[in-house]
Amino acid sequence: MSYFSTRNGTVVTASQAILTGLAPDGGLFVPSMFPQLGLRDIQAMQGLSYVEGAKQIVSAFLEDYSPGEVGASCYEAYGTGRFDDPGVAPLKNVDSNTFLLELFHGPTLAFKDMALQLLPRLLTAAARKQGEEREIAILVATSGDTGKAALEGFLDVPGTSCTVFYPKEGVSDVQKLQMVTTGGSNTRVIAVEGNFDDCQRGVKALFSSEDFRQKMAEKGKVLSSANSINLGRLIPQVVYYFSAYVDMIGRGVIPAGEAINFVVPTGNFGNILAAWYARAMGLPVAKLICASNRNDVLTDFFTTGTYDMRRMFHKTISPSMDILLSSNLERLLYEATDRDGALVKTWMEQLSAGGTYSIGQQRYEWLRSVFEAGCAEDSETLDEIRLMYGTRGVVLDPHTAVASCVLRKYRARTHDETPAVIVSTASPYKFAPDVVRAIHGKDAVAGLTALQCAESLNTLSGQPIPDQVRTLPEKPILHTVSCSATVDAMAAAVLEG
Ligand SMILES: *Cc1c(COP(=O)(O)O)cnc(C)c1O
Repeated sequence: MSYFSTRNGTVVTASQAILTGLAPDGGLFVPSMFPQLGLRDIQAMQGLSYVEGAKQIVSAFLEDYSPGEVGASCYEAYGTGRFDDPGVAPLKNVDSNTFLLELFHGPTLAFKDMALQLLPRLLTAAARKQGEEREIAILVATSGDTGKAALEGFLDVPGTSCTVFYPKEGVSDVQKLQMVTTGGSNTRVIAVEGNFDDCQRGVKALFSSEDFRQKMAEKGKVLSSANSINLGRLIPQVVYYFSAYVDMIGRGVIPAGEAINFVVPTGNFGNILAAWYARAMGLPVAKLICASNRNDVLTDFFTTGTYDMRRMFHKTISPSMDILLSSNLERLLYEATDRDGALVKTWMEQLSAGGTYSIGQQRYEWLRSVFEAGCAEDSETLDEIRLMYGTRGVVLDPHTAVASCVLRKYRARTHDETPAVIVSTASPYKFAPDVVRAIHGKDAVAGLTALQCAESLNTLSGQPIPDQVRTLPEKPILHTVSCSATVDAMAAAVLEG
């Protein structure tokens, strides 16, 4: 199977798409077709481990990889104890028709691990196929979570290095500690004297600088990207939608073939797009419910058919969803236009020039046959955490709570009682102060450290404090480099490493 750019006819293989990241015309790579899994194939997945299921689905997309390469990559990512749950992505009951798909059992306690544990292995295999012998140098700009997940994913992976830029004053203490205590011989973490936009602008400038590429080439290095538009991050995310469905059949919640709903806390639209891909492959899915926080561009898009990012950016308690430009939506638009790259390109140009585009009634209705959307303010999110704890005894992180709240409102509005899976994207331990505040009130967390909040959470939920959180204060700080927020300073920092 080949891959197309969403903006024109560029055709590449899977390994080329993964190695390049973004298409040369600025578009994203999409599969030329969706491999089909019939109901029998899906039922047959019941006996498979997560590793085996991943191997089957990922292989179907990556045609120029051998089954052995995909198998070994999936095994290293999901089969060697990097995830602290034997099921990797376990499904938990909330009530008789509501479930939580826990995607936070990886090394950094958030769902980015699901893809970033596999991507480095797919990337090095792609390099081998393409005869690329230079070191693959990954550059990442992070506002917190992605940086640590990328560092853990690339940690000591032969033939790669990973450099992360974070805004010096723009990440939480825990996020910063998580990054600067990263071990490994191929990781670098650099504090930028600026905000996240400075970091991102700098990294983008480095990617497009011929001079910088040349200097890296002289050192035997080639640049690559691990951000969420890379195909190698999207495909691994398709797997857990199948595993969740198969678990639902296995537990007798639904007969095989009956459709279910998923509600997904959404930022860059990568996770929920993977759910749509699973549906396109034959997974019985009725509705995909796109949940946003106060940054509700997507809610408006799915309510009106107009994407309009000309609005205030809000910092919320679900920071990984604080985003106005959801890049992966472009891949869905490509499908909504019947793969009309020229039209997608026009919309993307309108978006970057004027901040908005509209997709027209017919395409809008096509999207609405599957997608629902809703949003939740911080106050509603805190209420949802308290309510779910009080009524169901489950402790949700703020991102998952946004999804749970949006599902509650959706059900109240539509009376659609189809069994629903809430995609749970972060461990509550990653956001312990906000979670404890939601349940016990503001006074209860005043003056507490993050670790003390985690201890309080442990009392509430009975779930053990993950090692990553418990041992963080004792870990040695290994990265102390900082640089000013200029492209030259950032380039120098990378080249010195
Ligand atoms: C990245 C992230 C999201 C958003 O996922 P997208 O694929 O960008 O839509 C939601 N929750 C958490 C905890 C995340 O880290």
